Amino acid sequence: MSVERTFSIIKPDAVAAGHAGAILAAVEQAGFKVLAMRMTRLTQAQAQGFYAVHREKPFFAGLVKFMTEGPLIVLALERENAIAKWRETMGATNPANAAEGTIRKRFAANVERNCVHGSDAPETAETELRFFFSTSELL
Ligand code: UDP
Ligand code: MG
Repeated sequence: MSVERTFSIIKPDAVAAGHAGAILAAVEQAGFKVLAMRMTRLTQAQAQGFYAVHREKPFFAGLVKFMTEGPLIVLALERENAIAKWRETMGATNPANAAEGTIRKRFAANVERNCVHGSDAPETAETELRFFFSTSELL
């Protein structure tokens, strides 16, 4: 396994609930290096673009509304096998199915308001990192 990077979001529900610090602690405890990090807000167009792969899904409009409701934190994370390891650290999309100790099990309310995002493959990780970070921020 080689060192790779992945993209993550601490979503608006987690920021509003005051869970950002605990989630960042979990990031570090799981052995990730934070390459870049920024608090921001998404416009409707940005949220629609970021989740374009889901535009035909019944949950799309609700997801866009949720992701634009307040500040969120975008993160570039690095470690060995980062993409799979971050998805494992987050837990299943639906917190009802998430393993004990995972971030979604600990902090997520439901399948929509599930605290965190993580890229699902090398190509999406690079696209998503580029959506939010410039080359110089990722050095
Ligand atoms: N989502 C939702 N309802 C669903 C499935 C997903 O609202 O039935 C939301 C949820 O916030 C999820 C995001 O859409 O994190 C993207 O869905 P995906 O299947 O890509 O899950 P993820 O990769 O985030 O685990
Ligand atoms: Mg996904």
